[in-house]
Parts: sequence; structure tokens; C-alpha cells
Amino acid sequence: MNINIKKLNKVVIFGVGLIGGSFALALKKHAAVKHIVGVGRSQSSLARAVTLGIIDVACSNLADALDGADLLLIAVPVAQTESIFHAIYPYLQKQTIVTDAGSTKGDVIAAARRILAEKIGQFVPAHPIAGAEHSGPEAAMVDLYQGKKVVITALPENTHSALHLVASVWQGCGAIPHYLNSEQHDQIFAAVSHLPHVLAFALMNKIAEQPEADLYFQYAASGFRDFTRIAGASPEMWRDITMANRDVLQAELVQYQAQLQQISVALRQANSDQLLAIFSKAQAARQRLICSSS
Ligand code: NAD
Repeated sequence: MNINIKKLNKVVIFGVGLIGGSFALALKKHAAVKHIVGVGRSQSSLARAVTLGIIDVACSNLADALDGADLLLIAVPVAQTESIFHAIYPYLQKQTIVTDAGSTKGDVIAAARRILAEKIGQFVPAHPIAGAEHSGPEAAMVDLYQGKKVVITALPENTHSALHLVASVWQGCGAIPHYLNSEQHDQIFAAVSHLPHVLAFALMNKIAEQPEADLYFQYAASGFRDFTRIAGASPEMWRDITMANRDVLQAELVQYQAQLQQISVALRQANSDQLLAIFSKAQAARQRLICSSS
């Protein structure tokens, strides 16, 4: 792999879970950083991250943590991001570039503008399109970002060198930088990520709440397991994502309900041609998706 990044002296990661921990492991694998400092909410989780060799040290003193940092990654549930901007603002030195991994961008950027104020150019918003339904430092994977996209929603205030640093660090982790504006990002991910997660949560609850749910689950085979895998994801993370992008997500849900309604009408009318047409159209779209991503 082409590791086209300058070696960083110090990287600080807020939230050493799946995303932050995988970022740290990838940087370490490619010897792209001398020193990784972890900052977190739970001291036991940070201690675990040190034991697992994900971070070099856990730090609770922000002045010390941020002193001399080249890069700071915020990888916490998105509703926590604003409090982190508040906490870092007094200690954020001129040379430090801040980036994030949040799954929503409009809310994170609005918080950054409010709190980082004249330092906003130092914040380069990003979202790695890689993940899993597991959480915490134990879930971190060194190759999580290999061959995956990272969407950078650049701000007009970002300098070329700040953008280059963030893009090249993600490339160093194996990711492929893509660029969207924050509105495009939140619209697209409402459709292809937030909506499917909500559907998976709803389907799990629908079956779990019915009488004899255990009997039903005994017969839930690979199709059901594929469809609901993402319902195993962190409820806190998904509460924050869906709240942050709720207006766009609600519009997606309305469109999805219209699709369900078409199927419901076809079933009520015993319209087999209509069902065949609906399913054939979906199958063709799915085949195009698989071809375009292989
Ligand atoms: P995670 O639960 O594995 O890790 C989050 C970590 O943040 C935990 O260690 C938690 O203790 C810590 N934390 C929470 N609040 C904090 C605070 N105020 N200060 C410091 N640390 C705090 O979650 P994750 O999957 O790594 O997700 C992190 C971010 O990445 C989220 O914003 C999520 O939307 C985004 N993201 C997740 C995925 C995914 O598939 N999991 C993919 C792309 C982006």
C-alpha cells in the first residue's frame, strides 16, 4: 500500500472505540505516528485500550493531551461532539488539525462553528464509510478502513494543507477520500444508512414484541439475520444519529412507507403482476448495485 503521509508526532483520539481504536491501530501499523494519546469517558475502557496496544497513553488532563498535537480525531457518539469542542477550545494550538468521524455532518459542523469560532479553519469534518455493529476498544480492527471510502465535507475556511493532512492520514489507514458537502452527505446517508438501521431496529422489535417470539426467532434464518445484523449496533450512537438527522430521515421514512403501501395494495388486490413488477425492479437495482461495487 502507498503510505503517502508525513510522520506525525502526536495524535489525540477522543473516543477510543471501534472507529477511534481502528484509526489508532492503522496508524501504528504503518508507523505513521510516534505517540497516540487517548481521551475518553470511561477510564476502564481507556485502560483496556492501553492494554490492547491501541493507544500509548490515556490522558485526562486536556492541556497536557493537546500540547504539541498534530492531529485530533473526535470519534464519539455525535451528540457528545459539542461538549468536546467546548473542552478543547482553550487548549487548541495553532498547528493542531481537528477532524471527526461522526456519521452526521450538519449538526457537527454547526456545533463547530458555534464553539470553535475563529479556529473553525482547523476543523476538517469527515466520516469514514466503514464500521460494524460492535462497539468499544475490543471491537477495533487494524484493517477496518482498508479500501473503504472516507467522506470529507470540507469547509471554506479549511486550508489546503489542513485538507491534505486529513486526506493523507486517512489514505495512510487504507481509506479512499471522497468529497461531498454536508447537505449532500446527510441526505445520502439518511437514505442508505440511517433508514436501513431504523428499519432493522423496527423489524427486530416487531417480532420480539409478538406472542411466541422465541419460537419465531428459532426459525429466523440467514435472510432475517442479514436484514437485522445492523440492529445489533449501539443504541446510543443510533439515537444520536437519528436525532441529528431527524428531518431528512423522516422524509425518507415517508417515501419508504409509500413503497410499503404499494405492496400492501397489490396484496390486497391479489395483483400478482404488480408484485412481480415491484420485486423485479428491486432485483435489477440490487444487481446494478452489486456490479457497480465489485
Ligand atoms: P464506540 O461506542 O465503539 O466508541 C465510542 C467511544 O467514545 C467509546 O469508547 C466511549 O466511551 C467514548 N465516548 C463517549 N462519549 C465520550 C466523551 N464525551 N468524551 C470522550 N469519549 C467519549 O462507537 P464507534 O462505533 O467508534 O462510533 C464513534 C463515532 O463514529 C460515532 O460518531 C459514529 O456515528 C461514527 N461512526 C460509526 C460507525 C460504525 O459503524 N460504528 C461508522 C462510521 C462512523
